[in-house]
Amino acid sequence: MTHTRTARPDQAFDTLLEAARRIAQSIAAEQADDVDTKARFPKETMQALRDASLLSAAVPRHLGGAGCGLLELNQLCSTLAHGCGSSAMVLAMHYIQLACVVRHTGARPALEDFLRQLVERQWLLASITSEVGTFGDTRSSICAVERQGDRFVLDKDATTGSYCAHADAIAVTCRRDADAAASDQLLVLVRREDARLTQTTTWDTLGMRGTCSPGFRLESSGPIEHVLPQPYADISAQTMVPYAHTLWSSLWWGIASDAVRRAGQFVRAQARKTPGVTPPAATRLAEVTVQLQTMKQHWQSVAEAFDALPDTPAGREELSGIPWGLRLNNLKIASSEAAPQIVHRALQIVGILGYKNDSPFSLGRHYRDVLSASLMVSNERIASKNASMLLVLKDMP
Ligand SMILES: Cc1cc2nc3c(=O)[nH]c(=O)nc-3n(C[C@H](O)[C@H](O)[C@H](O)COP(=O)(O)OP(=O)(O)OC[C@H]3O[C@@H](n4cnc5c(N)ncnc54)[C@H](O)[C@@H]3O)c2cc1C
Repeated sequence: MTHTRTARPDQAFDTLLEAARRIAQSIAAEQADDVDTKARFPKETMQALRDASLLSAAVPRHLGGAGCGLLELNQLCSTLAHGCGSSAMVLAMHYIQLACVVRHTGARPALEDFLRQLVERQWLLASITSEVGTFGDTRSSICAVERQGDRFVLDKDATTGSYCAHADAIAVTCRRDADAAASDQLLVLVRREDARLTQTTTWDTLGMRGTCSPGFRLESSGPIEHVLPQPYADISAQTMVPYAHTLWSSLWWGIASDAVRRAGQFVRAQARKTPGVTPPAATRLAEVTVQLQTMKQHWQSVAEAFDALPDTPAGREELSGIPWGLRLNNLKIASSEAAPQIVHRALQIVGILGYKNDSPFSLGRHYRDVLSASLMVSNERIASKNASMLLVLKDMP
């Protein structure tokens, strides 16, 4: 077990957080509308994140990274989301894949060497879990990894692959071998030099346009050591889902929080026009902050509880259990429902200036970005998994 957690922010983390804040307020915020309009990769922001060593925040210290815990990564992503939702989603997806490698290397030298190089070169990791024919079920695959001596061969037809064309490596789910069941999956780390990508669909979406997530046909062959040793069932329950559901929630909160910040600026400007009179919208601003604060406390408490778990076989086993499964799924469902509601309420406060795309109070991008939340692994699909778990759980969570 190589993952190192910090119990509370230290100086190294403070430096990273300050860098994330600076990048969010300057480069990310400045480029966000252009990234959104052109549906282009936020390359300036990603370069700034690289320059500040933010891409290796999740790598343990003994491998050269900052050793950030889950709560700290959540803080970094939510901070960046205030400037640009797509950039924060890219960073979140990168951290999710990075955590999978970090926590499931099995102390394999080739994977540890990969992580050291990632720190040095600030590599960006993408993921391909979706597949043509599996209908959004990340826990089943059609493609299978093939072993050829000391190499693997893996081809996959992905429906959605965020920023794959810009990534240095892609974590890919697949069946263990050609005879394995659809759910008997592994995770393979495919480096750019080991992959050939052919774009198969476009990415012209309502929101999250800067994630650049079209479909891809992947053809790859790489060192066999890059097939992660543990079953994907464990990686998914113990790392992929906990990191994804908290990091996504924190960045959706960041987008909603920026919407409320804009609404707050609008209300204060109104108040200055009528000194001594509290504008009616101020009450609605107060009301929406209740929902915003609840949302924040939800992802914070789940991330804190995760960080407090001992990184032992027993601690990891706990994450595979029903109570943690429900807790994480509930966080995802609650956050993905709350974020659009909060942005909608901010829009009602601001009115037409929020509806306009060219005003300092514009909320269109925020609204469109958070609408992806309930679809990004469909809430219906997650709710049906919860329903099955609740049938066998005696004590309600
Ligand atoms: C911004 C963004 C970035 C993404 N990036 C990536 C990426 O980098 N890599 C990647 O692999 N994928 C990525 N995805 C894809 C994502 O992981 C999901 O695979 C995808 O959003 C699900 O697509 P779907 O709606 O067709 O799937 P489905 O889950 O099959 O849903 C289709 C429909 O069926 C309904 N449905 C499904 N299951 C049930 C059920 N049990 N009960 C009732 N109704 C049900 C849903 O509500 C929905 O209406 C991304 C998605 C988004 C939005």
